[in-house]
Amino acid sequence: MKYDYLIVGAGPFGAVFAHEAMKCNKTCLVIDKRNHIGGNIYTEQVEDINVHKYGAHIFHTNDKEVWEYVNRFATFNRYTNSPIANFNGEIYNLPFNMNTFYRLWGVSDPKEAEQIIETQRLKCDDPQNLEEQALSLVGRDIYEKLIKGYTEKQWGRDCKDLPAFIIKRLPVRFTWDNNYFNDQYQGIPVGGYTPIIEKLLEGSEVRLNTDYFAQREYFDQIATKTVYTGMLDEFYNYQFGPLEYRTLRFDSEILDQPNFQGNAVVNYTDKETPFTRIIEHKHFEFGTQPKTVVTREYSKEYENGDEPYYPVNDQRNNARYLSYKGLVESEQNIIFGGRLAEYKYYDMWQIVRNSLDAARKELKEAQK
Ligand code: FAD
Ligand code: UDP
Repeated sequence: MKYDYLIVGAGPFGAVFAHEAMKCNKTCLVIDKRNHIGGNIYTEQVEDINVHKYGAHIFHTNDKEVWEYVNRFATFNRYTNSPIANFNGEIYNLPFNMNTFYRLWGVSDPKEAEQIIETQRLKCDDPQNLEEQALSLVGRDIYEKLIKGYTEKQWGRDCKDLPAFIIKRLPVRFTWDNNYFNDQYQGIPVGGYTPIIEKLLEGSEVRLNTDYFAQREYFDQIATKTVYTGMLDEFYNYQFGPLEYRTLRFDSEILDQPNFQGNAVVNYTDKETPFTRIIEHKHFEFGTQPKTVVTREYSKEYENGDEPYYPVNDQRNNARYLSYKGLVESEQNIIFGGRLAEYKYYDMWQIVRNSLDAARKELKEAQK
């Protein structure tokens, strides 16, 4: 055994774990099948702009320790996510707040907005699917213009066939506050996310373009323990059947103009526009470069060989995940973590939190 830990995946889960292990003088080999570190939070400079290669990534959390942890590796700017929605050319503020209600119904009194929503609301204590959840939260107008089209493009499923929790992520406010998140801490690392991962991986050996499954026997004897952040079904050879994902196609272009849409994120919420959103990367860092880079996001069902971006946490997939989880519990020398191995729709802060917790538990045990 050459290394203390083999870490499969150089995304934030793997990188935080490697850093914590390295601080305890453990040796780590980090492998990734991609040609770069960072997983889905990878950023790359194009025209002097930090481009979020795998979709917009805004760091936000209520967890003070996680916030202080990431701030050790980067300076975060004051970016506050305030996406715009474009519904057939009509422009609305997100998340749903007084600016949205004023544009929809011409009301500027919060009580009036509440009354309109109250008359449209589905009265239902225990919403069973995303449509019921949305209708009971914000009523018919908002559901039809700002939720239904976007959600059905994003997930490729009818809103009645999607779990309610997906939409609970979106705030509804009767104030004029366009902040997409309720969290206390928010920002974008100045210089992008990749330098954070580089710093976290200092002291570890990193091998890129290296797929664990291409040399599984070799990797299984190279370290005392393995930290696995890839797909759980693949690890177990799909023996209970594949877990479903949504994948994205990112269509990026450089435009010879300083400002394309005036905002980092514009969602296209009608069902006819084939993409879900356009990201204009420079606005994450208040860029003043002469050119701009924009990316259109197209969502589709995952097929073998695609990148698995979003787990589809409906009942059938969750049940299948639990079968795999049964196998995980009997493993001695493998730690499973991250969005793919846990098959959960985690944000970055949860990944940092979970990886820190896993590393601390493990390293305490390793010291016994
Ligand atoms: P990943 O970042 O996916 O890293 C896993 C790594 O493992 C990958 O690099 C992969 O190549 C590698 N790997 C997998 N299998 C193998 C194998 N067999 N061999 C070798 N390597 C392997 N979070 C936020 O907090 N804010 C946001 O605004 C936000 N926006 C998002 C937008 C999009 C479009 C997406 C897809 C996600 C977004 N997220 C956001 C979530 C964020 O990307 C994840 O929480 C985070 O990347 C998960 O980290 P991870 O280390 O678990 O996985
Ligand atoms: N959503 C929506 N309209 C929007 C933005 C989001 O209906 O304009 C719904 C959609 O179902 C989406 C979910 O809210 O999947 C979560 O949105 P978020 O922006 O948090 O998703 P992510 O950035 O993770 O893709």
